[in-house]
Amino acid sequence: MVQKKSLMQKALDAAKKVTKKVAAKSSAAKKVTKKVAAKSSAAKKVTKKVVKKVPKKITGLRKFNSYTPKANESYMNKSQIKHFIKILTDWKLELSSDIDRTVSHMQDELTAYADPNDRASQESDMALELRNRDRERKLIKKIDGTLKNIDNDEYGYCAACGEKIGLKRLLARPTATLCIDCKTLDEIREKQIAK
Ligand SMILES: [Zn+2]
Repeated sequence: MVQKKSLMQKALDAAKKVTKKVAAKSSAAKKVTKKVAAKSSAAKKVTKKVVKKVPKKITGLRKFNSYTPKANESYMNKSQIKHFIKILTDWKLELSSDIDRTVSHMQDELTAYADPNDRASQESDMALELRNRDRERKLIKKIDGTLKNIDNDEYGYCAACGEKIGLKRLLARPTATLCIDCKTLDEIREKQIAK
């Protein structure tokens, strides 16, 4: 019970952070929850009708719009840069709307379950959604950093060795900051530290 309370509180606190609009809704959601808690058997009936939404997995392996360079096109020319700005801003918008959706979805789910099994599954659903959202926030930060790099004319070049990252790699991973060689070295080093 203690854990449930703190998890719900966490969800609500996180919700407040996202937008003021959502924060306003959050106190309303709290009130609703209290009401629902009072009529717990009625709530249970309603809940059973609700089809459980499976939280979207964030793999980072997103499919981006393709780009076909013209013959003799120079690396990181205006049209390539334009393409990457579009990809990155679209991606960021998508992530932000996912976060908003998760918040309102969690508020809909803030129901007091009488059945401990329902309660347990609600808790793990929420924990998963909070983790996903945390990952989304980090990704948004990374996208912001990438857009800043574009602004500074540093985009497309390896942060470690200064070589071209390459159009092909960037089209698959627009937020890449290392060339494939430096990235591979980095991963080997990480593995050794982990051992
Ligand atoms: Zn490099």
